[in-house]
Amino acid sequence: MDLQALLDEIAVAVAPLAARGKVADYIPALAGVAPGRFGMALVTVDGELFGSGELHAAFSLQSVCKAFTLALVLAADGDVLFERVGREPSGNPFNSLVQLEYEHGVPRNPFINAGALVTVDRLLSTTGDAFGALRAFLRAESGSTSIDLDPVVAASEAEHGHRNAALAHFMASYGNLENPVDVVLDHYFRQCAIAMSCAELARAGLFLARHGERADGTALFSRSLAKRLNAILLTCGTYDAAGDFAYRVGLPGKSGVGGGILTVLPGRGCLAVWGPALDKTGNSVAGVEALDLFTTRTGWSIF
Ligand code: GLN
Repeated sequence: MDLQALLDEIAVAVAPLAARGKVADYIPALAGVAPGRFGMALVTVDGELFGSGELHAAFSLQSVCKAFTLALVLAADGDVLFERVGREPSGNPFNSLVQLEYEHGVPRNPFINAGALVTVDRLLSTTGDAFGALRAFLRAESGSTSIDLDPVVAASEAEHGHRNAALAHFMASYGNLENPVDVVLDHYFRQCAIAMSCAELARAGLFLARHGERADGTALFSRSLAKRLNAILLTCGTYDAAGDFAYRVGLPGKSGVGGGILTVLPGRGCLAVWGPALDKTGNSVAGVEALDLFTTRTGWSIF
Protein backbone atom coordinates (compact mmCIF):
# COMPACT_ATOMS: atom_id res chain seq x y z
CA MET A 1 0.00 0.00 0.00
CA ASP A 2 1.28 3.47 -0.90
CA LEU A 3 0.74 5.14 2.50
CA GLN A 4 2.17 8.48 1.43
CA ALA A 5 -0.19 8.73 -1.56
CA LEU A 6 -3.13 7.78 0.66
CA LEU A 7 -2.34 10.48 3.22
CA ASP A 8 -2.00 13.08 0.45
CA GLU A 9 -5.36 12.04 -0.97
CA ILE A 10 -7.01 12.25 2.45
CA ALA A 11 -5.64 15.76 3.06
CA VAL A 12 -7.27 16.93 -0.18
CA ALA A 13 -10.55 15.16 0.62
CA VAL A 14 -10.99 16.70 4.08
CA ALA A 15 -9.95 20.28 3.19
CA PRO A 16 -13.54 21.50 2.56
CA LEU A 17 -14.81 20.11 5.87
CA ALA A 18 -13.32 22.78 8.12
CA ALA A 19 -16.22 25.05 7.17
CA ARG A 20 -18.58 22.69 9.06
CA GLY A 21 -16.84 23.27 12.38
CA LYS A 22 -15.89 26.06 14.74
CA VAL A 23 -12.54 26.85 16.35
CA ALA A 24 -12.68 26.70 20.19
CA ASP A 25 -13.08 30.20 21.55
CA TYR A 26 -13.87 29.61 25.24
CA ILE A 27 -10.09 29.77 25.69
CA PRO A 28 -9.55 33.11 23.91
CA ALA A 29 -5.92 32.39 22.97
CA LEU A 30 -7.09 29.45 20.83
CA ALA A 31 -9.68 31.49 18.91
CA GLY A 32 -7.19 33.06 16.50
CA VAL A 33 -6.11 29.83 14.77
CA ALA A 34 -7.25 29.63 11.12
CA PRO A 35 -9.96 26.92 10.88
CA GLY A 36 -8.80 25.49 7.54
CA ARG A 37 -5.35 24.38 8.65
CA PHE A 38 -4.71 20.64 8.52
CA GLY A 39 -1.92 18.19 9.23
CA MET A 40 -1.61 14.43 9.48
CA ALA A 41 1.31 12.18 10.46
CA LEU A 42 1.73 8.43 10.67
CA VAL A 43 4.77 7.06 12.49
CA THR A 44 5.30 3.30 12.38
CA VAL A 45 6.59 1.27 15.34
CA ASP A 46 9.96 1.17 13.53
CA GLY A 47 10.03 4.98 13.45
CA GLU A 48 9.20 5.57 9.78
CA LEU A 49 7.27 8.82 9.19
CA PHE A 50 4.60 9.52 6.56
CA GLY A 51 2.59 12.72 6.52
CA SER A 52 0.52 15.26 4.66
CA GLY A 53 -0.42 18.91 5.09
CA GLU A 54 1.07 20.77 8.04
CA LEU A 55 2.47 17.72 9.79
CA HIS A 56 5.27 19.76 11.39
CA ALA A 57 3.13 22.71 12.59
CA ALA A 58 2.80 22.98 16.39
CA PHE A 59 -0.70 23.22 17.83
CA SER A 60 -2.12 23.29 21.36
CA LEU A 61 -2.41 19.74 22.73
CA GLN A 62 -5.23 20.55 25.12
CA SER A 63 -6.92 17.31 26.19
CA VAL A 64 -4.66 15.13 24.04
CA CYS A 65 -2.09 15.51 26.84
CA LYS A 66 -4.43 13.61 29.17
CA ALA A 67 -3.53 10.31 27.51
CA PHE A 68 0.11 10.84 28.51
CA THR A 69 -0.66 12.07 32.04
CA LEU A 70 -2.74 8.96 32.66
CA ALA A 71 0.06 6.79 31.28
CA LEU A 72 2.53 8.31 33.75
CA VAL A 73 0.16 7.80 36.68
CA LEU A 74 -0.51 4.19 35.71
CA ALA A 75 3.25 3.67 35.38
CA ALA A 76 3.86 5.09 38.87
CA ASP A 77 0.93 3.60 40.73
CA GLY A 78 -0.66 0.78 38.75
CA ASP A 79 -4.41 1.17 38.59
CA VAL A 80 -5.12 2.44 42.12
CA LEU A 81 -6.17 5.73 40.51
CA PHE A 82 -9.47 4.04 39.76
CA GLU A 83 -10.40 4.22 43.42
CA ARG A 84 -10.79 7.99 42.80
CA VAL A 85 -11.99 8.14 39.20
CA GLY A 86 -14.15 5.82 37.10
CA ARG A 87 -13.46 4.30 33.72
CA GLU A 88 -16.85 4.43 32.02
CA PRO A 89 -17.79 6.69 29.10
CA SER A 90 -19.43 9.86 30.39
CA GLY A 91 -22.12 10.44 27.78
CA ASN A 92 -21.85 14.07 28.86
CA PRO A 93 -19.80 17.06 27.70
CA PHE A 94 -16.15 17.02 28.82
CA ASN A 95 -16.61 19.92 31.21
CA SER A 96 -19.96 18.91 32.73
CA LEU A 97 -20.59 19.86 36.35
CA VAL A 98 -23.93 18.08 36.76
CA GLN A 99 -22.65 14.54 36.49
CA LEU A 100 -19.94 15.18 39.07
CA GLU A 101 -22.53 16.27 41.60
CA TYR A 102 -24.74 13.22 41.02
CA GLU A 103 -21.70 10.98 41.39
CA HIS A 104 -20.43 12.55 44.62
CA GLY A 105 -17.21 14.06 43.34
CA VAL A 106 -15.94 10.91 41.59
CA PRO A 107 -15.40 11.71 37.90
CA ARG A 108 -16.71 9.21 35.37
CA ASN A 109 -13.35 8.72 33.64
CA PRO A 110 -9.81 10.21 33.50
CA PHE A 111 -10.37 12.08 30.21
CA ILE A 112 -13.25 14.38 31.06
CA ASN A 113 -11.89 17.51 32.71
CA ALA A 114 -12.77 16.46 36.27
CA GLY A 115 -11.06 13.10 35.83
CA ALA A 116 -8.03 14.74 34.27
CA LEU A 117 -7.76 17.05 37.28
CA VAL A 118 -7.68 14.02 39.60
CA THR A 119 -5.06 12.38 37.37
CA VAL A 120 -2.81 15.46 37.32
CA ASP A 121 -3.28 15.73 41.09
CA ARG A 122 -1.98 12.17 41.47
CA LEU A 123 0.97 12.85 39.14
CA LEU A 124 1.76 15.89 41.27
CA SER A 125 1.82 13.68 44.38
CA THR A 126 4.04 11.01 42.78
CA THR A 127 6.51 13.38 41.07
CA GLY A 128 6.31 16.76 42.82
CA ASP A 129 6.09 18.39 39.37
CA ALA A 130 3.34 16.98 37.16
CA PHE A 131 3.89 19.42 34.30
CA GLY A 132 7.66 18.91 34.36
CA ALA A 133 7.29 15.11 34.37
CA LEU A 134 4.90 15.21 31.45
CA ARG A 135 7.06 17.58 29.40
CA ALA A 136 10.16 15.46 30.04
CA PHE A 137 8.29 12.33 28.94
CA LEU A 138 6.98 13.96 25.75
CA ARG A 139 10.46 15.23 24.89
CA ALA A 140 12.05 11.83 25.50
CA GLU A 141 9.47 9.86 23.51
CA SER A 142 9.26 12.26 20.57
CA GLY A 143 12.99 13.01 20.45
CA SER A 144 12.12 16.75 20.23
CA THR A 145 13.89 18.43 23.12
CA SER A 146 12.34 21.84 22.45
CA ILE A 147 8.72 20.80 23.15
CA ASP A 148 7.20 23.25 25.61
CA LEU A 149 4.03 25.03 26.63
CA ASP A 150 2.70 28.14 24.96
CA PRO A 151 2.61 30.57 27.90
CA VAL A 152 -0.04 32.75 26.25
CA VAL A 153 -2.43 29.79 25.98
CA ALA A 154 -1.72 28.70 29.56
CA ALA A 155 -2.39 32.21 30.89
CA SER A 156 -5.54 32.57 28.80
CA GLU A 157 -6.92 29.29 30.08
CA ALA A 158 -6.10 30.18 33.67
CA GLU A 159 -7.82 33.54 33.30
CA HIS A 160 -10.95 31.95 31.85
CA GLY A 161 -10.81 28.69 33.82
CA HIS A 162 -13.78 29.20 36.12
CA ARG A 163 -15.47 25.97 35.13
CA ASN A 164 -12.36 23.88 35.74
CA ALA A 165 -11.86 25.70 39.06
CA ALA A 166 -15.45 24.84 39.98
CA LEU A 167 -14.85 21.16 39.17
CA ALA A 168 -11.64 21.14 41.23
CA HIS A 169 -13.20 22.86 44.25
CA PHE A 170 -16.17 20.54 44.11
CA MET A 171 -13.93 17.48 44.16
CA ALA A 172 -11.84 18.98 46.96
CA SER A 173 -15.05 19.30 48.99
CA TYR A 174 -15.35 15.50 48.72
CA GLY A 175 -11.70 15.01 49.67
CA ASN A 176 -10.88 13.79 46.15
CA LEU A 177 -7.79 15.99 45.65
CA GLU A 178 -4.49 15.42 47.45
CA ASN A 179 -2.96 18.82 46.61
CA PRO A 180 -4.25 22.42 46.89
CA VAL A 181 -6.78 23.35 44.20
CA ASP A 182 -4.74 26.26 42.83
CA VAL A 183 -1.63 24.10 42.41
CA VAL A 184 -3.57 21.33 40.64
CA LEU A 185 -5.20 23.87 38.30
CA ASP A 186 -1.85 25.47 37.50
CA HIS A 187 -0.35 22.14 36.42
CA TYR A 188 -3.52 21.24 34.52
CA PHE A 189 -3.60 24.51 32.55
CA ARG A 190 0.09 24.28 31.74
CA GLN A 191 -0.10 20.68 30.55
CA CYS A 192 -3.04 21.51 28.26
CA ALA A 193 -1.01 24.42 26.79
CA ILE A 194 1.85 22.21 25.57
CA ALA A 195 2.34 22.73 21.82
CA MET A 196 3.39 19.87 19.53
CA SER A 197 3.13 18.92 15.88
CA CYS A 198 1.37 15.84 14.46
CA ALA A 199 4.75 14.29 13.66
CA GLU A 200 5.98 14.78 17.24
CA LEU A 201 2.71 13.60 18.73
CA ALA A 202 2.53 10.41 16.69
CA ARG A 203 6.11 9.56 17.65
CA ALA A 204 5.50 10.34 21.34
CA GLY A 205 2.53 7.95 21.40
CA LEU A 206 4.39 4.94 20.06
CA PHE A 207 4.68 3.30 23.48
CA LEU A 208 0.91 2.79 23.23
CA ALA A 209 1.32 0.92 19.94
CA ARG A 210 4.27 -1.07 21.32
CA HIS A 211 2.42 -2.45 24.36
CA GLY A 212 4.24 -0.12 26.78
CA GLU A 213 7.74 -0.12 25.28
CA ARG A 214 9.33 3.33 25.35
CA ALA A 215 11.57 4.96 22.75
CA ASP A 216 14.68 3.81 24.63
CA GLY A 217 13.49 0.20 24.67
CA THR A 218 12.58 0.11 28.37
CA ALA A 219 9.05 -0.70 29.53
CA LEU A 220 6.92 2.18 30.79
CA PHE A 221 4.45 -0.33 32.17
CA SER A 222 3.19 -3.87 31.61
CA ARG A 223 1.46 -5.12 28.50
CA SER A 224 -1.68 -5.41 30.56
CA LEU A 225 -1.62 -1.72 31.56
CA ALA A 226 -1.02 -0.78 27.91
CA LYS A 227 -4.14 -2.75 27.01
CA ARG A 228 -6.10 -1.01 29.76
CA LEU A 229 -5.01 2.46 28.71
CA ASN A 230 -5.85 1.75 25.08
CA ALA A 231 -9.27 0.48 26.18
CA ILE A 232 -10.00 3.72 28.05
CA LEU A 233 -8.84 5.71 25.03
CA LEU A 234 -11.31 3.81 22.86
CA THR A 235 -14.26 4.13 25.23
CA CYS A 236 -13.65 7.62 26.69
CA GLY A 237 -10.99 9.43 24.61
CA THR A 238 -13.38 11.48 22.50
CA TYR A 239 -15.87 12.36 25.27
CA ASP A 240 -19.54 11.91 24.51
CA ALA A 241 -18.69 11.11 20.88
CA ALA A 242 -16.64 8.02 21.82
CA GLY A 243 -19.30 5.66 20.47
CA ASP A 244 -19.45 7.44 17.14
CA PHE A 245 -15.65 7.64 16.98
CA ALA A 246 -15.35 3.86 17.56
CA TYR A 247 -18.02 3.32 14.91
CA ARG A 248 -16.38 5.51 12.32
CA VAL A 249 -12.66 5.20 13.10
CA GLY A 250 -12.31 2.06 15.20
CA LEU A 251 -9.10 3.03 16.99
CA PRO A 252 -8.15 4.07 20.53
CA GLY A 253 -7.74 7.85 20.38
CA LYS A 254 -7.55 11.09 22.35
CA SER A 255 -8.82 14.41 21.09
CA GLY A 256 -8.37 17.98 22.30
CA VAL A 257 -10.06 21.31 21.67
CA GLY A 258 -6.90 22.54 19.93
CA GLY A 259 -8.11 20.27 17.09
CA GLY A 260 -5.59 17.46 17.51
CA ILE A 261 -6.38 13.75 17.74
CA LEU A 262 -3.85 11.04 18.54
CA THR A 263 -4.81 7.50 17.54
CA VAL A 264 -3.12 4.17 18.20
CA LEU A 265 -2.77 1.35 15.68
CA PRO A 266 -1.63 -1.40 18.07
CA GLY A 267 1.47 -3.16 16.78
CA ARG A 268 1.68 -0.86 13.75
CA GLY A 269 2.17 2.75 14.85
CA CYS A 270 0.43 5.99 15.72
CA LEU A 271 -1.54 8.36 13.54
CA ALA A 272 -2.02 11.98 14.62
CA VAL A 273 -4.23 14.54 12.89
CA TRP A 274 -4.85 18.22 13.42
CA GLY A 275 -7.67 20.43 12.17
CA PRO A 276 -8.77 23.25 14.50
CA ALA A 277 -12.43 23.49 13.46
CA LEU A 278 -14.44 21.41 15.95
CA ASP A 279 -17.84 19.73 16.01
CA LYS A 280 -20.31 20.19 18.88
CA THR A 281 -18.61 17.55 21.03
CA GLY A 282 -15.22 19.29 20.78
CA ASN A 283 -13.63 16.93 18.25
CA SER A 284 -11.92 18.04 15.03
CA VAL A 285 -14.31 17.77 12.07
CA ALA A 286 -11.60 17.29 9.44
CA GLY A 287 -9.55 15.15 11.82
CA VAL A 288 -12.29 12.59 12.51
CA GLU A 289 -13.13 12.42 8.81
CA ALA A 290 -9.46 11.91 7.90
CA LEU A 291 -9.16 9.05 10.42
CA ASP A 292 -12.41 7.53 9.17
CA LEU A 293 -11.09 7.60 5.59
CA PHE A 294 -7.74 6.16 6.69
CA THR A 295 -9.10 3.13 8.54
CA THR A 296 -11.74 2.53 5.87
CA ARG A 297 -9.16 2.54 3.09
CA THR A 298 -6.44 0.55 4.93
CA GLY A 299 -8.62 -1.76 7.02
CA TRP A 300 -6.29 -0.90 9.93
CA SER A 301 -8.84 -0.44 12.68
CA ILE A 302 -8.76 -2.69 15.76
CA PHE A 303 -11.94 -4.42 14.58
N1 GLN B 1 -7.89 22.79 28.47
C1 GLN B 1 -9.21 22.45 28.02
C2 GLN B 1 -10.23 22.63 29.13
O1 GLN B 1 -9.93 22.37 30.25
C3 GLN B 1 -9.19 21.05 27.53
C4 GLN B 1 -10.53 20.59 27.03
C5 GLN B 1 -10.44 19.70 25.84
O2 GLN B 1 -9.48 19.71 25.07
N2 GLN B 1 -11.51 18.99 25.62
O3 GLN B 1 -11.34 23.03 28.94
